[in-house]
Amino acid sequence: LERAAMLTITNLQVYYDRAVEALRDASFEVQAGQIVALLGSNGAGKSTVLKSISGVLYPEDGEILGGSIAYEGTSLAGLAPHEIVRRGIVQVPEGRRLFDKLTVEENLLMGGYSRPLGEINAALDQVFTLFPDVKQHRSRVSGYLSGGQQQMVAIGRALMSRPRLLLLDEPSLGLAPQIIAEIFGAIRRLRDEQKMTVLLVEQNAQLALSVADYGYIMERGRVVLDGEPSKLLSNEDVKEFYLGMG
Ligand code: ATP
Repeated sequence: LERAAMLTITNLQVYYDRAVEALRDASFEVQAGQIVALLGSNGAGKSTVLKSISGVLYPEDGEILGGSIAYEGTSLAGLAPHEIVRRGIVQVPEGRRLFDKLTVEENLLMGGYSRPLGEINAALDQVFTLFPDVKQHRSRVSGYLSGGQQQMVAIGRALMSRPRLLLLDEPSLGLAPQIIAEIFGAIRRLRDEQKMTVLLVEQNAQLALSVADYGYIMERGRVVLDGEPSKLLSNEDVKEFYLGMG
């Protein structure tokens, strides 16, 4: 018997400015406890999928014109971003978007605003255990950190609200291999040790498929291929267009 997915997206259709069709009939599922990779070239619609889930598209920007997003059996339609966070879905945006003038610890505390005060220290400790570097820099102003350190703080800030579904938009972008390895090690630990579910948007398909349990490939607003990493990695089109092995 197949288990119901944690997240089910059906025929999602999103337009920007009522003119640019960013998603057309995009459908996919995320099973609880898995890392699911969303792959595809620039402009395929990956970020739009994440923004649709976390509720940060607005009519003056992008607009959902069709389809549905169901999370644990309930539609997310019409919910405000903070209500979606309260249900356990948190996005780490592309480019990190930290509060540059605040310290690392203040940034983390912003992420924990919805938690009872009594849980905050434990939540901070969990982030510090996952990213020892972040602990070391906790009193520094975050604008002065390296890109990799900022990415860790951005993920840590998201974790402060104790999400069950973590949405990551291009966490490897612009970072050195050593830091990428550290961050992807942490993503793997979140799944393995905390049973966290992760929807991972990446341009680096090889990297994403090295940690993912399942992957979807998007092109021009739709899903064109899906499967387990072993299947995607051996697909000739995937090799040629996304792994640079053509
Ligand atoms: P990238 O890796 O470049 O972010 P992506 O796969 O995440 O690519 P999206 O950012 O979701 O793609 O963009 C999908 C389509 O929607 C593209 O054609 C893009 O130009 C368009 N688009 C995205 N944001 C906007 C916006 N705010 N206004 C108008 N068009 C937009």
